Amino acid sequence: MKCPHCGYEDSKVTDSRNVDDNVRRRRECLGCGFRFTTYERIQTGNIVIIKKDRRREAFDREKLAAGIRKACEKRPLPTGTVDKLVDDIESELLRMGKVEIPSSAVGEIVMDRLKELDHIAYIRFASVYRDFADITSLKQEVDTLIASSELESQLPLIPSEELKSLSRKTRASPSKHRQA
Ligand SMILES: [Zn+2]
Repeated sequence: MKCPHCGYEDSKVTDSRNVDDNVRRRRECLGCGFRFTTYERIQTGNIVIIKKDRRREAFDREKLAAGIRKACEKRPLPTGTVDKLVDDIESELLRMGKVEIPSSAVGEIVMDRLKELDHIAYIRFASVYRDFADITSLKQEVDTLIASSELESQLPLIPSEELKSLSRKTRASPSKHRQA
């Protein structure tokens, strides 16, 4: 954001708040120290994701798409499903009207959508995202899915290979009982 006083390209944001569909930012020029206020329309490009470790990162549509694509790999989904899903999620984030969104909130939205779409993709995504502590908590999640009536049509679709590999992955995490 160019400084209106000296034209310097870089400024720091000292305050940021939402006003309707806009975000009002107070800025300070890093060149001359001039303070000015901008009103920017909220676009996902302006959305900042708050990560678990509190670090901030600009929302990255491609990164989101890559994670979802990986979860949906080789699933029998119509072409364009992932792009449509990412569009939907992006709109939902915009509707939240917030400039800063915790990554956990984004993760929950993705998991909700995947759960409706394809249970294998959901379990894959959740196993990475939730970082299931052990095979028991993963199994609980699968059991919950199986218990939900909507799953009936998909019941035979959880490949045992997939579950086994998830289980191996979980067990591969460092164990307290292992001897050094
Ligand atoms: Zn300046």
